[in-house]
Amino acid sequence: MLGTIIAIVCLAALAFFSAPLWLWVAVGVFGLLTGVFAWWFALPWLAVCALSGVASLRMKFVSRPAFKLFKNILPPLSATEQAAIDAGTVWWDAEIFNGKPDWRKLSGFRDPELTEEEQSFIDNETEILCQMLNDWRFIHHDKDLPPEVWQYVKDQGFIAMIIDKKYGGKQFSHYAHAKVENKIASRRPAAAYMIMLPNFLGPAELIQHYGTDEQKDYYLPRLAKGIDMPCFALTGPWAGSDAGAIPDTGFVCYGSYTDPRGGSHHENVLGVRVSFEKRWITMAPIATVIGLAFKLRDPEGLLGGKEDIGITCALLPTVMEGLHHQCRHYPNETPFWNGPVWGKDIFFPLEWIIGGRDYAGQGWRMLMECLSVGRCISLPPQSVGNAKHAAWTTSAWAGIRRQFGLPIGKFEGVADALALIGGHTYQMEATQDLALTGLDLGENPSVISAMVKFNNTERLRKVMNDAMDIHGGRAVVGGPRNYLASMYNAVPIGITAEGANILARCLMISGRAHSAAIIMC
Ligand SMILES: Cc1cc2nc3c(=O)[nH]c(=O)nc-3n(C[C@H](O)[C@H](O)[C@H](O)COP(=O)(O)OP(=O)(O)OC[C@H]3O[C@@H](n4cnc5c(N)ncnc54)[C@H](O)[C@@H]3O)c2cc1C
Repeated sequence: MLGTIIAIVCLAALAFFSAPLWLWVAVGVFGLLTGVFAWWFALPWLAVCALSGVASLRMKFVSRPAFKLFKNILPPLSATEQAAIDAGTVWWDAEIFNGKPDWRKLSGFRDPELTEEEQSFIDNETEILCQMLNDWRFIHHDKDLPPEVWQYVKDQGFIAMIIDKKYGGKQFSHYAHAKVENKIASRRPAAAYMIMLPNFLGPAELIQHYGTDEQKDYYLPRLAKGIDMPCFALTGPWAGSDAGAIPDTGFVCYGSYTDPRGGSHHENVLGVRVSFEKRWITMAPIATVIGLAFKLRDPEGLLGGKEDIGITCALLPTVMEGLHHQCRHYPNETPFWNGPVWGKDIFFPLEWIIGGRDYAGQGWRMLMECLSVGRCISLPPQSVGNAKHAAWTTSAWAGIRRQFGLPIGKFEGVADALALIGGHTYQMEATQDLALTGLDLGENPSVISAMVKFNNTERLRKVMNDAMDIHGGRAVVGGPRNYLASMYNAVPIGITAEGANILARCLMISGRAHSAAIIMC
């Protein structure tokens, strides 16, 4: 009886202090040899030590059988889910999943820094732009930026931040890009969407990474100057989160087309005839070029390979006959340009596939890889800017608004909510900066990017709820002096776009964490 109690106490103590394997073995052997532990207790103890400590035994008798069991129980992964899970790199996040993160490694990363040019752009051009913007006018009257603001945005390169200098872009670091976004979103939250959106995942990024020289030379200078306005069309009425299930299909065939870019006519060209129906596409109504995702099939074997080629991305000028893009949606009181795009039997040459014919069927991988980066530098910095705006205005309001003879910030309930706003905002910026550090080190941390997108947009929801509560009627009643309502209305956009949050948590974060854990076993 005493032996059993000693054994249980030893077991608990070793587990509680995360004792190393050699200590577990030593205690087991000592207990067995001295007779303190019964043999039926000590031998299984040592067997478990051997199974958990010797990798080859563990893999043979535990990991592989368990993996086989779960493989049979779980539904099979589709190719698109697998590509989503495989995209990107594993960076510091590997430390989290190995159960014993090396915090010194984390604190050893150098803080990202801005170059002189980037700092000056934030202090000067961005400052001027912020002063030109007027959210009330944008949302309630114009539903667009005034022409002079658009011109300033294009002339100063606000939509060319990710484009290489040799093509006329700014070639800013990811960190600088995010800091510009932070500032615009902190001053004019709704207008920020409109200005920053052409930088996010879309034609420019795809062309830079995968485009042919001809595509780069033609489109990148035009996108940098704003001569072309891009949008990217993936989502449709039948496929949202499950974007790999888009029904839009293109067939490889011979056909003729007139190139709207120069007017030249071409007969009997090998290309694609595509029909598609997309919706909720940002910038679509004013776009001049659409990055289109569709499924490519080659039933006549004209490319010499399999019939089902897979998801492919192509660049279509919007002036093509049969292509419709000018209707408009209004995303939750935040009227940046957004709308449906559809087309029937549109023929284009293979050279319009992003990356050319070699990249036919590579679309899903390209999108997933770019999204791993894009997720860090689009919605998370917008959320940080919005949260800073809320923290700044709400703390000021709590100081000047008096009730019961006191500034409302003196009441514990209000102070409590203010503290939460401050805490969330601090964590959001720290999370953003960590992800940007990874990106600027050349990583493509897909789990971290999903975590940042998920956490920052969810935390913004909490921050905005508290900020609205503290402002009371001041933030509920509309008018040019209401500086919070537009941001509050925009929260669900961040939650939904670029991988809806519940899906991001389940598939991109937990799903990939499980895969990482299985690989490490
Ligand atoms: C303002 C705005 C702008 C947009 N801009 C563009 C654009 O420029 N280009 C473009 O192609 N698309 C764009 N979209 C579309 C956007 O990408 C989709 O809305 C998004 O992918 C979610 O799809 P859905 O809205 O159809 O939701 P659904 O896919 O119907 O999902 C509904 C709910 O189910 C959850 N869910 C779905 N599958 C799973 C799963 N496996 N596990 C757990 N939860 C799951 C989701 O998280 C969500 O909460 C935009 C959308 C909005 C609202």
